[in-house]
Amino acid sequence: MPTLAEVEREALACTRCPLHQGRTNVVFGVGNPDADLVFVGEGPGQQEDLQGEPFVGRSGQFLDRLVLEEMGLTRADCYIANVVKCRPPNNRDPLPDEIEACGPFLEQQLALIDPAVIVTLGNFATKLLLGTTDGITKVRGKAYPVGGRTLVPTYHPAAVLRGGGASEAQMRADLVRAKQLLMRDMGTTTDRGPTDRPAEPSLFA
Ligand code: URA
Repeated sequence: MPTLAEVEREALACTRCPLHQGRTNVVFGVGNPDADLVFVGEGPGQQEDLQGEPFVGRSGQFLDRLVLEEMGLTRADCYIANVVKCRPPNNRDPLPDEIEACGPFLEQQLALIDPAVIVTLGNFATKLLLGTTDGITKVRGKAYPVGGRTLVPTYHPAAVLRGGGASEAQMRADLVRAKQLLMRDMGTTTDRGPTDRPAEPSLFA
């Protein structure tokens, strides 16, 4: 098994899909490599591409605020990654081929960080990690056991900022749920090393 730093080094040189042609920086992920909680977004936007860090733009600042207010956690307490590591042109949705090409990086990140709880932000991360075609509006509001972890789907912060169907109150409630599940899952064992869990098939199976 490679280390997280080795996987990152590989991602920084990646040319597996055409998104590499337009990137300023690969946005691999940020935070605590031993985090019990991982957030997974969609893909870098303009600010993220420029700075090489996920969720540093307007939606990221909003996410930081909600996570602090509802969970009492900062960026340093968790880990944040995206489904695709390079910015799609003009912030378009990532294409299926791009998601597939980038998938192994996220899969390795999750295997190495080994969080108890994953919060998926929006449709792309939720569909990929939950293995569903159902949309976020349908699946949010519940938690799901996935590969020995607990997955809590919620809206993408940009969708909440845009208004419409994705409500801030629902997103806040999802974060409170994630915090409760994190405390539950972390309270059930004193050591959540990889050996605590039965071998699980790939999250992407
Ligand atoms: N939106 C995402 O999904 N990820 C980011 O890193 C920034 C905005």
